[in-house]
Amino acid sequence: MAMPQQLKDIREIILGRIATILEHEYRDPVTDLTEDILTAKLAFKAHPQLNELRLALERMKRGEYGRCIFCKGSIGETALAQNPTAHFCNSCSGELRRGELRRGELRPHLQSPDDHPDRAAISA
Ligand SMILES: [Zn+2]
Repeated sequence: MAMPQQLKDIREIILGRIATILEHEYRDPVTDLTEDILTAKLAFKAHPQLNELRLALERMKRGEYGRCIFCKGSIGETALAQNPTAHFCNSCSGELRRGELRRGELRPHLQSPDDHPDRAAISA
């Protein structure tokens, strides 16, 4: 698990990336870099990279950032520094690349049930 200061730094990087995508791809000028304002702007925007960034912020809130969503193992700090939205450990991402894990099996771990409107319908 990353240290608190590193988490803060990574959080700033993630917020900055969200702001950049909003400004460049949606022409939505960002004057306030606070998380609440940025995440509010993300609603209804189906952009894979924005989605990854938003999910990374949510994992931070839940205290799960830096843990593999599949095996719950630790994702190395170097890997997180290279890719702040990394959510698989080295061994799981290797297995994914080799096709030993299927992405569909992992999807339920990506989002909390209450922020995924489709899940209520699926389990009902
Ligand atoms: Zn793993």
